[in-house]
Amino acid sequence: MGNRINVTRSSLPCFEEYVNEIKDMWDSHWLTNMGVKHSLLCEELKKYLNVENIELLTNGHMALEMTLQAYDFPAGSEVITSPFTFASTTHAIVRNNLKPVFCDINESDYTIDTTKIEALITDKTVAIVPIHVYGNICNVEEIGRIAKKYNLKVIYDAAHAFGEEIDGISVASYGDASCFSFHATKVFNTIEGGAVVFKDVNLGKQIYRLKNFGIRDEETVDGIGANAKMNEFCAAMGICNLRHLDDEITKRKEVFERYQKRLFGVDGIKICGKIPDNFRCNYAYFPMVVDKEKFGKNRDEIKTELEGHGIGARKYFYPITSEFDCYKGVIECQETPVALNISKKVLTLPLYADLTLEEVDTICEIILS
Ligand SMILES: *Cc1c(COP(=O)(O)O)cnc(C)c1O
Repeated sequence: MGNRINVTRSSLPCFEEYVNEIKDMWDSHWLTNMGVKHSLLCEELKKYLNVENIELLTNGHMALEMTLQAYDFPAGSEVITSPFTFASTTHAIVRNNLKPVFCDINESDYTIDTTKIEALITDKTVAIVPIHVYGNICNVEEIGRIAKKYNLKVIYDAAHAFGEEIDGISVASYGDASCFSFHATKVFNTIEGGAVVFKDVNLGKQIYRLKNFGIRDEETVDGIGANAKMNEFCAAMGICNLRHLDDEITKRKEVFERYQKRLFGVDGIKICGKIPDNFRCNYAYFPMVVDKEKFGKNRDEIKTELEGHGIGARKYFYPITSEFDCYKGVIECQETPVALNISKKVLTLPLYADLTLEEVDTICEIILS
């Protein structure tokens, strides 16, 4: 692969640190099923996120899927969400026999447009599943107000928002539940993994059961569960990676700010503006939206040009989920013109802790040349 630059590069602790963390597993022979590493990571994450309740899962997708399942909504109930996201969010809804109702996004930060939610609510609506896309935090206050008024659950897809805070308050504390992904490509990883932060302890008990086949006790199985337990090797990776996370985020910040410095104000390129002082950002992604009329080149041309230099940028998120082939003729999809338009113009640039500022400069020069 030589000097290829991918859109992301997984964080790893040093080899010795990980080996040291997993050593005692050779004494206990306890490899999965909620062992000591699983418990320890739960405790560490509660402290890091400053929350009271968390359940760990095999991945972020199962966090979403099992949280929705735990509510046991009637089949065919409607869930308001946005299609400007990774496949997982919409699939989790559909796989629970629920009906996604697509709400458009904001032009400004690509999160759900809260002014358009109420018009989509019917007597079948049971929940809102908004996405903190790119780590941009949804209008949590307004979503909370709407949910309360119509008695809806709010389950955030917080896969991009790990560790973020507004005014010192964790994003995980908004809504009824927040689902995180600890996939290798995310800011914090457990190789594969995920978690749900929730308020209602009974919901947590249900998720705990569902992730372990619905088993209540040795002789009682009263949930149609699956297997979504985080294993000990993954939990151990999380314990190690969490120790270095703040340093990683600091390095990401430098990369992010270099991109901002080089690309801000360029005609036809829209990027994230200044991060407000009261927001602790995790610098997960660097999306840029390209307007061919003004810039002269379109998103696909820039992607191809970067690719020619061994640089992998990604069309996150294209296509929008409501355009997926698997949903054609299967679910009715509302029109979301803003999401559709952004999806055709957006490109996310390489961003990870070890990306050097010189590499960022090279990427920007290729884009601008
Ligand atoms: C990564 C991701 C998920 C799924 O997480 P996995 O851990 O990969 O299963 C869900 N939603 C969004 C927005 C994501 O980016």
